Amino acid sequence: MSRSPRFASAQAAMYTGLAMSCLFCKIVEGSIPSTAVYQDDRVYAFSDINPKAPVHVLVVPREHISSLHDTDREHRALLGHLLGTVAEIARQKGLGKGYRVVVNIGEDGGQTVDHLHLHLLAGRPMTWPPG
Ligand code: AMP
Ligand code: ZN
Repeated sequence: MSRSPRFASAQAAMYTGLAMSCLFCKIVEGSIPSTAVYQDDRVYAFSDINPKAPVHVLVVPREHISSLHDTDREHRALLGHLLGTVAEIARQKGLGKGYRVVVNIGEDGGQTVDHLHLHLLAGRPMTWPPG
């Protein structure tokens, strides 16, 4: 499969500006250790270091994207792939009883790491509404 120009420029962007100091970019690169759960050419999934449920996995794009708010139409296939990856991991882990997918966005949304990520939470009943 040939790599699109967009992919090439996204790869270059990973090594510029904010992305250079981005925690999740470093985890994707492997320069900060993590416990891998799933990976392919577009996404990487790993265990959350401070789990909020018995199962707590983070799914991130390999490409540095600051938040969901910073995505555009060109990211839609990737966004679908991120969500589909969560479902695939949930099936692999036998989470048929249910789980929650959370995306925190920006300051009021509670986002603390500025690299888009989906939380997969499971293994206990979730409360509603979230805090
Ligand atoms: P958020 O608050 O939505 O930005 O989520 C960031 C998540 O990253 C939190 O749940 C943290 O526990 C998690 N986290 C922070 N540092 C690490 C790390 N080095 N490895 C794995 N998860 C991390
Ligand atoms: Zn990043």
